[in-house]
Amino acid sequence: MKNILNLSKKELEEYCTANGFKKYGAEQIMRWIYQSRIFDFSVMSDISKDLRRKLDEDFYVKLPEIIDVKYEKDGDGYSKKYLIKFENGDIAESVSIAHKNRKTLCVSSQVGCRMGCVYCETAGMGFSRNLTSGEIISQLLTVENDNSDKITNMVFMGMGEPLDNIAEVEKALEILSNDKFIGIAQRKITVSTCGLINVLENFDINAYKYKLAISLNAADSETRSFLMPVNKKFPLEKIADMVNLKKPSLHNKITLEYVLIKDLNDRIEDAKRLIKLFSPSKVKINLIPLNKDENSVYLKNFERPDDFTIDKFKTKLSNAGFIVTVRFSKGGSINGGCGQLKAQMLKY
Ligand code: SAH
Repeated sequence: MKNILNLSKKELEEYCTANGFKKYGAEQIMRWIYQSRIFDFSVMSDISKDLRRKLDEDFYVKLPEIIDVKYEKDGDGYSKKYLIKFENGDIAESVSIAHKNRKTLCVSSQVGCRMGCVYCETAGMGFSRNLTSGEIISQLLTVENDNSDKITNMVFMGMGEPLDNIAEVEKALEILSNDKFIGIAQRKITVSTCGLINVLENFDINAYKYKLAISLNAADSETRSFLMPVNKKFPLEKIADMVNLKKPSLHNKITLEYVLIKDLNDRIEDAKRLIKLFSPSKVKINLIPLNKDENSVYLKNFERPDDFTIDKFKTKLSNAGFIVTVRFSKGGSINGGCGQLKAQMLKY
């Protein structure tokens, strides 16, 4: 018996035809599950009895369990951090952030992470395993179930490096963005990466359907290699070359994420280097003042810059024509802010 949530549309079509049913059965089943949220095969009334019986023999549908929710009010919005337990007992975190009409879900793609970034709590917990596509989608199904309202936007900025688990992430994206199933528009889904160029090279960066964010975090390779060991293999200059090959675009710019850390990457010289490396016609810049839990051992050597420094950095970039946003992370006091996702308990 398998959890049917892990099958792509193609896989389910193959299953249907291999068992003598029409290929279209796959789409019908998936509509019931992802659109109507009906998990009991026996009530899927437009599907033949034989197929329903066969499904009952081979599959089940099971959502993970919410084992903890932390809620934080924030102006006229709120954020909620979910601790989600999968079938095998592994835990990951998802954060939903509500603001006006927008409801964004930040999902995890792995349990832990193997990228080793020194400013990120998830790296500090090490790597356990990749999440399956079903486990990625389940985060949305579970949170929507808990909240009874719809997620409008998604960001792959929870635990893990999505491009290090690209096969499962792509499978999940297909179902999440298909308007017959979950139906979140592709332009409302952001995939964030530390810059795995070997995977990025397989995308057509001009035609990439989802939003792409690259965690840059430094404007010179020495600093970046210190902060992000991945830079030794896939250096900043290579990222810049790739991004600069992109055609200028008004609506589909790549977001460069830049965690600001006191005295490490927050100097005006850093901003000047960024201006040299990138073009405002191709990227926008999202500054994220370092989030840190006062008790964090992993981040003990790092501090957030003061507001004056943050503002100076931002203004320098804005004056050079870049669209710059400063993300004072939501969910800070519940440790649900960027880079703070570290399951308190790996196994329950
Ligand atoms: N591995 C992917 C997805 C994780 S996204 C990536 O690196 O992009 C997490 C985002 O939060 C990244 O932009 C990262 O740079 C940022 N981040 C990590 N640790 C942080 C911290 N302590 N404070 C603020 N932002 C942080």
